[in-house]
This record gives sequence, structure tokens and C-alpha cells, in this order.
Amino acid sequence: MNIPVVRTITALRAKMAAWRRESRTVALVPTMGALHAGHLFLVQEGLQRADRVVVSVFVNPTQFGPQEDFAHYPRVETLDREQLATIGASLLFAPPVTEMYPAGFSTTITVTGLSEGLCGTFRPAYFAGVATVVTKLLLQSLPDMALFGEKDYQQLQVIRRLVQDLDIPVSIISVPTVREFDGLALSSRNAYLSPEERRRAMTLYQALREVSIAVAAGVQADMATDMARTQVLGAGFHHIDYLEVRDADTLTLLKGYVRQPARVLAAAWLGRTRLIDNVPVPPQRDASSMDSKTNSV
Ligand code: AMP
Repeated sequence: MNIPVVRTITALRAKMAAWRRESRTVALVPTMGALHAGHLFLVQEGLQRADRVVVSVFVNPTQFGPQEDFAHYPRVETLDREQLATIGASLLFAPPVTEMYPAGFSTTITVTGLSEGLCGTFRPAYFAGVATVVTKLLLQSLPDMALFGEKDYQQLQVIRRLVQDLDIPVSIISVPTVREFDGLALSSRNAYLSPEERRRAMTLYQALREVSIAVAAGVQADMATDMARTQVLGAGFHHIDYLEVRDADTLTLLKGYVRQPARVLAAAWLGRTRLIDNVPVPPQRDASSMDSKTNSV
């Protein structure tokens, strides 16, 4: 079993045009490859909603900082192709770097506000790189919809914003995070964890869930996150980039009692691996008696 592969924008557009002529709807799933069950869930969701699913695999150099793992990022195209064929994806778009960024390439998409704070503080080039490559992928393929994981929640909000701001006629669909048996969010970077680190990694998700439950029960956000930080560091994570409660849409920092839809987000280091995760805060049972003045921006 195999899946057709195209490596040029021209070939991708030819495929898309042929499907359009047949009145087929098309979903795009952008990835960096090393596909796991989280990626495959996006593809399966795409297959539920559209007639054809295009998966892009492109390890995008512009979203990696100089000290980051671009050179070592796992690249396993043969395995990726087998998995995509097995679940019935329609086409793999796997362009070389020169196809996406030919000599003279000079344009960057920057989404202000949403790209600042959280991962934007610790990976300064990241969101401009993501926004630029996702904009290119959407305009190259012009699918009916594109699917993204809630696992990368800030990224999802940045993409929603840019699609709205740039009037790109594509629906953005978000898909819940797929997790291991113990709650660890699936990630291509989990492969970097030693067996001992892997055992400890689930604490991040546990801590986020406890914050979410506490905040929903009326505990102030900063008190809940302080306790969670202690828990995560106690489990052997050696550094926390951030562990915060934020407004679910604007990503505004929330410190006090939380009334609006919110998200608990974290990035923390276990050995040489940086793990990120986030969970929703369930609707509060009774927020009416809480003091909103303790919320800060
Ligand atoms: P990546 O290959 O890491 O760039 O991810 C490609 C897409 O897969 C993004 O939309 C991610 O949010 C999504 N994704 C990654 N991990 C998961 C997961 N565990 N569950 C659901 N979606 C995921």
C-alpha cells in the first residue's frame, strides 16, 4: 500500500484543481512528520469531514531557533507514508526547503499579541516561522479546511487569527490532544526522553489537570499554578518556562478567580527535552460570588 507524493507547488495545485473539477472537498493537515497517533487523529477527522485529505510533511527551518533541534528533528518519510496509506490519506505533500524558501525569499507573517508571551517568550522566532509556513501551505493548496491540534494551543490561536486577518477562505478545525495511557500528550519529541524521564513526564499533565479542577472549583489561578510548579519541579523537571492560566481566546493572563473560558498551559524541561501541554478549565460551578478585581492582565 502506498500514497502518492508530490514535492512541488505546481504538482500540488494540479491535484487540487483535479479534485475541484470533480467537486471533491479537501482537508489539509500540516505536520513536520514523524507521525504519531495525534497526527493520524487529525487525518481521520479530516477524512470524516472532507472527500480528500492532503497531509504536508515539512520540517520548517524558519520556526527553529539557532540552538534548537532542526538538524536532529526526526525525519522518517517511509514510515510516515506507510501510516498515511494505511489510514486512507489521499496525498502527501513533502516539499524540499528550496521549494518553500527559494533564493530571495523575504516575507514574514507576524501575528502580534497572540504570538507574545507563553512559547513566544522562549522561542522568539517560532510563531513568525509557523505563521509564514502555514500561510504559504494554505495559499498553495487552498483547501476547504485545515486541521490543527489543541496540543499546540497558542499556535492554533495564532493560525485562527491570521486566517481571519488575511481573509484566507479556509475553515480552521481544531482537534483535541491525543494522549498516552498515562496522560502524556503524544509528541514527536517524546522520542528524546530516556525511560526514566518518560516515567516522570506524565506529571506535567497531572499538574495541569489539578490546576484546571482547582480553578473551576474557585481557587485563584496564581495559587493553583504555584502549587503545580512545586509538583512539576518535585517530579524531576528541572525548569519551567511557564505554567499559567490564560483566557481561552485572547490568551490574556489570569491570576485571580476565573470566570471566563480559560486554558491552563505549560512548557517545562525534562533533561534536554522541552515538553508543552495544555488543558481546558471546565465551566465554573458558581463564579458569581468571586471577586473579579484580583484578575490581572
Ligand atoms: P507537528 O508535526 O508537531 O508540527 O504537529 C502537526 C499537527 O499535529 C499540529 O496541528 C499539532 O498541534 C498536531 N498534534 C501534535 N501532537 C498532537 C497530539 N498529541 N494530539 C493531537 N494533535 C497533535
